[in-house]
Amino acid sequence: MSKAFEIVILSGKGGTGKTSITAAFASLAKHAVFTDCDVDAADLHLVLSPDIYRTEDFESGAKAIVNTDKCTGCELCRDVCRFSALEFKNGIPVIDEYACEGCGLCSIVCPVDAISVHNYNNNKIYFANCRFGPMVYGKLGVAEENSGKLVSKIRQYARELTRQHQAEIIVTDGPPGIGCPVISSVTGSDLVLAVTEPTMSGWHDLERLIEMIGGFKTPVFVVINKYDLNEEMTQLIEQRLDAMNIQVIGKIPYSETMVLALLEAKTINEFDPAGYIAGELTRIWETITFTIKQHHKPINI
Ligand code: SF4
Ligand code: SF4
Repeated sequence: MSKAFEIVILSGKGGTGKTSITAAFASLAKHAVFTDCDVDAADLHLVLSPDIYRTEDFESGAKAIVNTDKCTGCELCRDVCRFSALEFKNGIPVIDEYACEGCGLCSIVCPVDAISVHNYNNNKIYFANCRFGPMVYGKLGVAEENSGKLVSKIRQYARELTRQHQAEIIVTDGPPGIGCPVISSVTGSDLVLAVTEPTMSGWHDLERLIEMIGGFKTPVFVVINKYDLNEEMTQLIEQRLDAMNIQVIGKIPYSETMVLALLEAKTINEFDPAGYIAGELTRIWETITFTIKQHHKPINI
């Protein structure tokens, strides 16, 4: 057993710069394990360029398959499907694999055994080493939906890696939004850093995220990215967060350097170590780690 902290970086929606900020933290963290739980669009690996040493299939659930040679077109299967996953085309049932929940009822009622239910392993989990330490991340297969379960599995593996490497901190690039995978990312973590942008929609997304996290009692800090693009909105967000007792821990100005760093698959702290943004992100990281160590006991892993 070892002890470690878990920090999750989230945003109310995609495209706020969450991954660039997580990558910068990766280059600052010592004795850390990194995870990308944005399983719908994992991209932290594009900056951290990890060497994958193991890939695991993650079972994503079951789907029905019709043997059209056996089917007599009686339509009984369609009548029992509660998920409207069966349509008939030219008298032959066609399964909508996005809608099929794999319950198997259609295969039970089929009088000629023309339907079978198969498990799919479209989801992948990657174990890797990047230049900053061990990493585990996942990708949801096409048409797969069990992203919350996949995120939970990735976090479980991150804890195993933490034990193996005697790491002290887990840094997670979380999924955007407020759905099931976000809940799976936050549960049992020590601190959430929420990244937002100074727009009204950015504020609404952040507000919903904070509301959702509130149920977990996990402390939240906020970073406003590209704050100088709308300083009035930045001020409004700061005021509203202040009224909610939530601290804006840093404000990052808009800079093309962030994009240039991404294009070279570098973190901003590698690309422009003496620049203002690298300095600000270093300060934010140090504040987070100081706060977490002051106010939390590391969880047993
Ligand atoms: S397995 Fe269940 S959800 Fe899928 S088509 Fe059959 S009845 Fe519908
Ligand atoms: S219940 Fe079986 S035989 Fe009848 S339409 Fe469906 S697949 Fe074909």
